[in-house]
Amino acid sequence: MWLVFLNCLPTRDRLSRWSTNTSPTCCLCGAGNETRDHLFLVCHVSASIWEHVMHRLGYQWHGFTSWNAFTDWLCTKDNVTPSTLKLLAAHTTVYNIWAERNKRLHDGAVTSPAGTFEMDFSRVQ
Ligand SMILES: [Zn+2]
Repeated sequence: MWLVFLNCLPTRDRLSRWSTNTSPTCCLCGAGNETRDHLFLVCHVSASIWEHVMHRLGYQWHGFTSWNAFTDWLCTKDNVTPSTLKLLAAHTTVYNIWAERNKRLHDGAVTSPAGTFEMDFSRVQ
């Protein structure tokens, strides 16, 4: 998770800056550039996974607009969900988005956002 927070994961946007043979295009949607913020928050595939997660946690959620918005949500105590559960859900969701990205990139295997969400919460519950 720290690699994600420090923006040090080898996303395709970063890899394309080091090699002309790498496309910067997102592995999940095939549309935007695969930056950290796009891959984990803004991509419509990731946003769909987050929508499932946030609904399950009890939030009225309309998407994260930036990494700062995500960390603000993560670090703000509220009466909706205990902080420990928020952290666990966030870590699990980020992990599963990265795993789904890698499965699509390396194996060509695709799991739907609902399927990825089910993997998230089958580990949490
Ligand atoms: Zn995308």
